[in-house]
Amino acid sequence: MSYRRLLYIVLSLVLLSCQSQTKTSVDVRCVFSADSAYTYIAQQVAFGSRVPGSEEHTACGDWLVKKLAQFGAQVHNQHGTMINYAGQLQALRNIVAYFDGSTQNAILLCAHWDSRPWSDEEENYDDRFSSVSGANDGASGVGVILEVLRQLSILKAQGEYVPSVLIVFFDCEDMGTPNHYTGMQREHTWCLGSQYWAKQYAQASPIKLQYGILLDMVGDPSATFPYEYFSMQYAKGYVEQLWRTANRLGYGRYFVQSSTYYPITDDHYYISTIAGIPCVDIIDYKTTTETGFAEWWHTQQDDMRNINKQTLQAVGETVLTTICSK
Ligand SMILES: [Zn+2]
Repeated sequence: MSYRRLLYIVLSLVLLSCQSQTKTSVDVRCVFSADSAYTYIAQQVAFGSRVPGSEEHTACGDWLVKKLAQFGAQVHNQHGTMINYAGQLQALRNIVAYFDGSTQNAILLCAHWDSRPWSDEEENYDDRFSSVSGANDGASGVGVILEVLRQLSILKAQGEYVPSVLIVFFDCEDMGTPNHYTGMQREHTWCLGSQYWAKQYAQASPIKLQYGILLDMVGDPSATFPYEYFSMQYAKGYVEQLWRTANRLGYGRYFVQSSTYYPITDDHYYISTIAGIPCVDIIDYKTTTETGFAEWWHTQQDDMRNINKQTLQAVGETVLTTICSK
């Protein structure tokens, strides 16, 4: 064997091993477009604040229904009423979409699509009566889920394995008692849409669900997602699976291995406790602020300036890769 031939064989072996390594990592890393997710967030924000009962809310809801149907899901509006913080009837519209994949039991992907009517955290008192834009607090989770669905529809068309998925965009998550309210304080004033959906689901649902993933405030450039208390209490195994996947994909700086200081009341709590579906909350939580949330939280600054494509990529790729692994 000539030296040249030996060199050729050695080089071929090195190349082959590189190719197989590349192929392996490609196999277990799902394609997710942060550009698309970003666009879906900007499109929601462009409608204006999606405050329940407003024209902007109706228009954005109709647009979401169209997008979900466009990506191959069967969509319906779930209209209902709940009692709000002031003891009045509150109309709500949850948007529910089923995507038929290879599995009998579906995975629940959810986020809230409404905007908070008040900016409680504004320093200036008068500004607290303006609605928030909700780019992060609402639109970011919805945008990532829309892109996850678009990727699932592409994979399904290619004959790839995809799970069945139930998407629910909850209304009236952010209708909780405003700080300025001086009347009687009621409990369970947040997450009205998920409370309504969970009660209906517990009574009768034609769709069996394995577990749920809730996305809330998932676009901040410095987002960190620690283990959240209720998620650990009701869905520990799924939390660990998601965080393991994130770390394997190189997103450990977002999916940190620490815990929130206190439990977070979010839609996942009612999904776990009323509907009985273990649900994980991927939520941006800061140990550096007094509220536990980012500086823009419930202020006029919750806009597109705080939406970062790298963060969207980390969340979207982690969710998609986790749900598509058998
Ligand atoms: Zn909020």
